Formats: sequence, C-alpha cells, structure tokens
Amino acid sequence: MEPRKIDSPVKFDDTSKAFAHLNDGDLRFNYWIFRLMNSPTLTGISTSLAELAMKINFPVSWAAKPTVFRVFCGGETIDESLAVVTKLGENNVGAILDYSVEGQESETEFAKTEQELIRIVSIAKENPHIPVTCMKISGIASNRLLERLSSGADLTDPEKVLSGVLHQRFERICQANYDAGVPVYVDAEESWLQPAIDRLVESMMAKFNKDKAIVFQTVQMFRHDRLAYFENLIDKARISGFKVGMKIVRGAYLDKENKRAEDKGYPTPIQPSKAATDEAYNAALKLSIENIDWVEFCAGTHNEYSCQYLAHLMKDKGLQNNHPNIYFSQLYGMSDYMSFNLAAEGYNVSKYLPYGPVKFTLPYLIRRAKENTAIAGQMGKEFSMILKEQARRKG
Ligand SMILES: Cc1cc2nc3c(=O)[nH]c(=O)nc-3n(C[C@H](O)[C@H](O)[C@H](O)COP(=O)(O)OP(=O)(O)OC[C@H]3O[C@@H](n4cnc5c(N)ncnc54)[C@H](O)[C@@H]3O)c2cc1C
Repeated sequence: MEPRKIDSPVKFDDTSKAFAHLNDGDLRFNYWIFRLMNSPTLTGISTSLAELAMKINFPVSWAAKPTVFRVFCGGETIDESLAVVTKLGENNVGAILDYSVEGQESETEFAKTEQELIRIVSIAKENPHIPVTCMKISGIASNRLLERLSSGADLTDPEKVLSGVLHQRFERICQANYDAGVPVYVDAEESWLQPAIDRLVESMMAKFNKDKAIVFQTVQMFRHDRLAYFENLIDKARISGFKVGMKIVRGAYLDKENKRAEDKGYPTPIQPSKAATDEAYNAALKLSIENIDWVEFCAGTHNEYSCQYLAHLMKDKGLQNNHPNIYFSQLYGMSDYMSFNLAAEGYNVSKYLPYGPVKFTLPYLIRRAKENTAIAGQMGKEFSMILKEQARRKG
C-alpha cells in the first residue's frame, strides 16, 4: 500500500544520521547481506535449507553467525552483546536485550530462562543504555499450559501446581524489575495463549504499577478486539489506581492465526485487511496520547506513517520529543534509518536486540530474512537506504 503523507515533525530520509553508527566497512558488510536478502530466489533457497537443517539437526551456525546473525543479533551471550549496546547507546538509541531462545518445554529450561531474565535486569540497572527489558511468558511456561489456562477448562491437579509455579516465577521477575526501577515489556503471543498472559500481566500491573509503569502489556492491533481491550484496561486502571504500560504492535504470525481459525472452524480474530490493522494501530496511538497522564507506551513498529503520525500527535498536544511516557522501538538490524533519525530528533528510541546461541535464533533469523526480501520486484527499503548512503559517502 502507498504510504500516506502527513505533516510530521520527523523525516526519515537523512541517511547520514541513519547510518552514522556504521563505519564504511560495516556499511559495506550490511550492503552485501541486504543485497543477498534482496534476491527472492536466493533467500528462498537459503531459508528452505536453514529450515531443513533445523529439522534434521544439521549444524548451520558456522554459516549464520558471521552473516545474518551479525546483522540482526547482538551475540550469543549478554556479554557478547554489550558491544552493540554501547554502540547503539553512543547514538542515543537504547537496547532491549531479547533472550531469543524459542520453543523450550521443560521446567529446568523455564527456571534457566527466569535466571537469565533476572540477570538482564541487574545489568540494565547499571547500564543507562538498557532502559527496559522484555520477555515472553512462553519462555517461562509451556504452550500447552498457557493454552489450557486460556481455554477456561477445569485444570487437573498437576496443572494447578504448574499454574502456581508460573505465577510465582513471573512475579519474581516483575519484582526484580520493580526493585531495579527498570520496566519490562511482556510480549504478546498467539491468541489462544493470550487470555492467560492477559490475566498474569494485569495482576502484576495492579501490583507493581502504582507510581509508574513497570509491567507493560502488549496489544496486537491486527486483532479486531484489541482496541476495545486497551480502552477497557485504561478504564480499569484508572478505577483501581494503577498505571497502564503498553507496547503497541501490529502483530506477528498472521497466517498461523488465520489457518488455525479456519482449521478449527471459529471466526478469525484478525482484522479484515491491512488497512483495518493500520487504522486500529494509529487509533491506539491516539488513545495513548489522549490518556498520557495514565498511560506509558511504546510504539513497536517499522511503519513510517505510524511513527510520523505519533510524532505529529505529540507535537499537536505540545508534548516534548523526549516525553518520558513515550518510546519508539524497532528491531535491531531493521529500519535503522527510522530509529537513528528519531533519536537524532530527541525522541526516546530503543531497539529489540536478540541474543542467544545461534542455533536457537535460527527461526528468528529466517523470519527476518523473509521480511527483508524484495516484494514484487521492489527493492527492500533497508537495501535502498544503504545504497543511498553509500552514494552520499562517495560524494
Ligand atoms: C519493538 C517491537 C516489538 C514487537 N513485539 C511483538 C510482540 O510482542 N508480539 C507480536 O506479535 N509481535 C511483535 N512485534 C512484531 C510486530 O507485531 C509486527 O509483526 C512487525 O513489527 C511488522 O509490523 P509493522 O508495524 O512494523 O509494519 P507494517 O509493515 O506496516 O505492518 C505489517 C503488519 O501488518 C499486519 N498485516 C499485514 N497484512 C495484513 C492483512 N492482510 N490483514 C490484517 N493485518 C495485516 C501484520 O500484523 C503485519 O505483521 C514487535 C515488533 C517490534 C518492532
């Protein structure tokens, strides 16, 4: 869809600001990676091979680590990622360390993830370039349990025990964030897991968000019911006296949502069109600004219009660019031209910075490669911006 135009105080076409954090060598490196990803055939072949390698447990880390992993991830450990955190911080862009290990299923692994998340909080407390942490509830509980909790079915005794364990585990993480004064963004997940996540997040918001938002919920605006959910939550929070922390995204895994709805024969929770999602997304931004005395929020998006619209709404209401309740956020390696231009104008900006062992980050890297592929002969935006900056540097 053709982006709409708006009178916005922020522009994204200054590539000198957008790529100030990359020296010529880094820029050339990114050029080659995005050039390769710009080829649908090559991306198709390599992502299929990577998917196959994951299935048969064939090692591909040696190929991913010096290439796509370097562009989209901070490192294999927190310590390895700190160099990127510093580099972003030097350009006034915060980092949100995202422990990207997906699909774990055992209590031992969930306990390990809890420890890792609490370690991130302690590092964030000391590091001004890490303004907030993030987590997925599915990283500390099984999908099976979350689905059962969300279904409203009667729980078996062992499920009741696991549910209690999950509650305590999540509470310990939120407590650590609260003690450190560092907020935590809780990611939104599939709609059949989300009711359990909603209940957990809301209970911790009520406990920890009395003075400021520490626990942040996420709403996916590709769901047609989430704007009403957000409005309702603001009303509830005002009555009960806790602040709303909200990350606003459009939503991932659209095909998975539609397919499950079709397979199981229930109406899809997804908006009827991209335009409807866009409209709901921008309405959620407006709602947040209208309730800025009560809502702290993060616009998690690579959509240029939405970022410009938010900047426009802020200006319209006379809010300063670095208003403490408002954050813009993009994924590391994606839309740098937006993140760094926003930061240069004084807006609060952060990047999700995934890290973890390469083999566990492969599903994430495959998603990034697919998203950055040229669409119907159109050059990927990242790639075209890199070309523009290279031409500018050559003079
Ligand atoms: C900082 C950050 C945090 C994130 N956290 C989460 C999270 O917690 N949970 C999560 O699910 N995702 C999360 N995402 C991913 C996000 O939901 C989007 O998938 C991604 O950002 C693309 O949307 P966009 O707004 O950037 O860009 P756009 O390119 O403008 O929008 C693409 C999105 O529009 C929607 N869409 C596309 N086609 C249709 C259609 N036919 N009908 C209806 N809707 C359509 C889909 O949501 C698609 O992802 C996060 C993204 C960022 C940047």
